[in-house]
Amino acid sequence: MNEEIKKLILDEIKASDTILIARHFRPDGDAIGSTKGFQRILKLSFPDKDIRLCNRDYSDYMAFLGPEDGDVSDEDIKKALVFILDTATADRVSEPRVLEGRKIIKIDHHIDNNPYGDISWVEDRRSSCSELVADFYNTFKTELKIDAHAATCIYTGMNTDSGRFRFAATTGETLRLAGLMVDQGVDIETLQAHLDLKDFKVYEYQAAVFGRIRVTENGLAYLFVDQEMQEKWNLSREEASDSVTFMNMIKGAIAWIAFIENPDHTIRVRLRSRFMTINGVAERYHGGGHDKAAGATCYSKEEMEALIRDADEAVREYKESHEGWL
Ligand code: AMP
Repeated sequence: MNEEIKKLILDEIKASDTILIARHFRPDGDAIGSTKGFQRILKLSFPDKDIRLCNRDYSDYMAFLGPEDGDVSDEDIKKALVFILDTATADRVSEPRVLEGRKIIKIDHHIDNNPYGDISWVEDRRSSCSELVADFYNTFKTELKIDAHAATCIYTGMNTDSGRFRFAATTGETLRLAGLMVDQGVDIETLQAHLDLKDFKVYEYQAAVFGRIRVTENGLAYLFVDQEMQEKWNLSREEASDSVTFMNMIKGAIAWIAFIENPDHTIRVRLRSRFMTINGVAERYHGGGHDKAAGATCYSKEEMEALIRDADEAVREYKESHEGWL
């Protein structure tokens, strides 16, 4: 699919001496995995080019994949071919200065509501942006080089964004491309340990927080993690945000939402669902995202209550008009 655009992208790479690779802020496994994997493939394949990651923030959770690159000068940005991966809209770019680059190429798997860039390769049915990077490698594998580290980064993105290959966006092609990555020497046991093991304090926090999960009659699960709890359990922002996963296995609760209070008392909202879509609710509260994994922001408790009512109504409507949900 999209053979022409991929060829165009490869030609742009060949024609550029300075290449910068960027992603969205508050990165997840896919943002880090896709950019680091893509950088590694390009570096191995074009060793004489200057190819750097250019981002402002990083992720403790993904630190096992190694560090990113340091500061990039304005001068280098201006002459660079800039790739922006896994970033639906330009205002979510971690280092906004990259938008001043000579040419911008967007590679993404989010719905393209606000296009940006000079060249855009977006496939919103893909389970991850890392899957697109794997596909790019697969398309040109006679010309491109890969190694175990590049494959580990890409596999990490594919694995995390597809919920360990469980979400509906996972296709046969996802698994074939993941297999191609594993074949390069991914150490699955070590990787899975990095992704899954948690400090014991997180389990202590879980034991306390499970009592605060609420499930409505219609089947909406939600949880509010206030600042006090985050301080009490000494949680990082990532650990607090991860609370959304606690609700993903409740029978009948086909949508679930974590509200995480920010230090400035605004509320980060993480919405998830199975069977039904949930991004419509997110869009009404300063957010958006994928059909079944979206984010939003609430600026008051009242807004949080309103969002809960809206989401609950969406669950009710879905259940009334559909069968087969679990
Ligand atoms: P998160 O819960 O932060 O992991 O977000 C899930 C998905 O929703 C991500 O893939 C984001 O692209 C998207 N998303 C999160 N927050 C927002 C937002 N404020 N506006 C638009 N999309 C968002």
